[in-house]
This record gives sequence, C-alpha cells and structure tokens, in this order.
Amino acid sequence: MRSRKEYLQHVVFVLLISLMSMQSTAQTNPLWTQQKVKNYLPHMTYPEVEAFLEKSDLVIIPVGSLEQHGDHLPIGTDFINGVERSKLIAQERDVLVAPVLMVGQSPYHMGMAGTITLSADTIVQVHLEAVESLIHHGFKRFIIMNAHGGNRAITTLLVDQINQTTAGVAVSFGQAVGPFMDPDPEPPATVLDRHGGTSETSNSLYLMPSLVQLDKAVAAELTLPQHLEDMLPEVVDGDPTALMLFLAEGLKAEETGKKTSSAEMSSTGVWGARDPKEGTAKRGEDAARRTVNAAVRFIDRWNEYVGSQ
Ligand SMILES: [Zn+2]
Repeated sequence: MRSRKEYLQHVVFVLLISLMSMQSTAQTNPLWTQQKVKNYLPHMTYPEVEAFLEKSDLVIIPVGSLEQHGDHLPIGTDFINGVERSKLIAQERDVLVAPVLMVGQSPYHMGMAGTITLSADTIVQVHLEAVESLIHHGFKRFIIMNAHGGNRAITTLLVDQINQTTAGVAVSFGQAVGPFMDPDPEPPATVLDRHGGTSETSNSLYLMPSLVQLDKAVAAELTLPQHLEDMLPEVVDGDPTALMLFLAEGLKAEETGKKTSSAEMSSTGVWGARDPKEGTAKRGEDAARRTVNAAVRFIDRWNEYVGSQ
C-alpha cells in the first residue's frame, strides 16, 4: 500500500508532467512537423558547419523548379524531390546539402497557374555567388544535382563556370553518378511517359508521400504537333536521333510558336500517355536506393583521389 505522502507526491508529479506537456503543445507551431536532418545546411548551426568542415569539403546543391506537375503532384515537386534525394545521400556520407534556389527554368509551363520561371543567366549567377560564399568558408568540391529537365544545359554551364572561374571543383550529379548506377529493373516504356508521369509520381510517392494526391491523377490527352506525334514510336524506342529532335522541339514556351508548351500539348500538364496512377512508392524506393548507392560509390571514389593528393 502507498502511504498518503507517496500518493500526494505521485499526484503532484503527474500534474507537473501534464502541465509541462500542455505548455509545450500550447507554445509551438501546430504546423511544425520537421525533424532536424543531419548535414542539411538550413537546419545546421554555424558551429555544426565548422565541425563538418573538419571532416569534409564536399557540397551537394540540388537545382529544382517551381512548376506545374499535373493535377496530382505539387508545384514544388522537382525542388522537394531533389532536396530529399540529396538528404538521403548525406545520411550515408559527409556531404553538405545546400539548396540555393527553389525556382528553375520553366517557361514552357507558364500556361498553367503557379509556375515561376527564371532566366538561365539569373540561375547561373545566383548559384555562382552562393558557391563563392561556400568557398569562402572552406568548401571546395561541389556536386550540382539537376532535379528538373529544363535546367540541364544551365547546370552543365554552372558546373563549367565554377570550374573556370572559382577555386572550387564541380561535377554534374548525373554525369558523376551515372556510371555507378545499378540497372533499372523497370521494363522499358512502351508509350511516352515523361514530365509528371509514372516515374516522377513513383519518386514522389516515396520521397514526399503526403504531398501526392494520387486520387486526382488522370491520364492526359495529348495533342502533339503532327510531325512530333509521328516520331513517337522511335522516341519511345530510345532512338537517339529521334529523341534528340523530339526534345529539341518539345516542351518549349508558347512564345516560340512551336505549339509544344505543356498547356498546348497536354490536357493535364503531364507529358505522357500513361495514367500517373500506375506509379508506386515501391518503384520510387527502388529508384532512390539505386541513386543513393551510386552517389555513395562516386563520393567514395572522389574522396580516395582527394586523400591521395
Ligand atoms: Zn518534375
């Protein structure tokens, strides 16, 4: 049997604990759900960055976009997926994740609300200035991770500009990590399945599940210019010439007169004939795992070369 004193002590203890927890729920942002993520620059303090620099001078900069992604994926899809992928890599190896801009080059999505687009010059300039800041603090090596097709040429130029004009050394993620990727277990596509399609939907279902509204996904009706429509079988087959010409003309701003902006070619903004509902978190998980593994292999290799300097 508890004594009366013990009982009172117990009651006071329980009251104190519930008061403390009431206070903490009452005084913090009800929308806050984030956990502090290791090696993610926006979450770190400056002493943590200094401690990081004792171990590594390696940075990964995801370059995404804010653009329409159909009825079922958010405007921030490319930015968020790029950042999440980078964070997963940074849990395996000492690499600082430093996103600089949310916005990319997306003029061909401007026919749909919410898209923001910046010029190539602006995107390169902003990133170069950010890289100079990081170099100032002692960072030296940069992996530029392009997370949006429309940024491909821009991130290639950015990598070269870092190498040509700063003390930093930069590589493009796709080029660096590609040779270390395990083969994709997905069977090759039989129909066009690009922007906002089953691959991007799968990645999003794994990387940012609460932001995917799969029930709103519907198969797009495509209205490609006739000569592009005629090229489709070769494009889907992976014929390099057909693919090159198709991408050179496809998905370009309405102002170019090519009739290939997303609003002109697709009823939903998705550039594909497959229903995005066919995307699965499992496929996204496989893709993320293959990407993280390949990135780790590349980073280990680069670190070996740096260690032997
Ligand atoms: Zn995208």
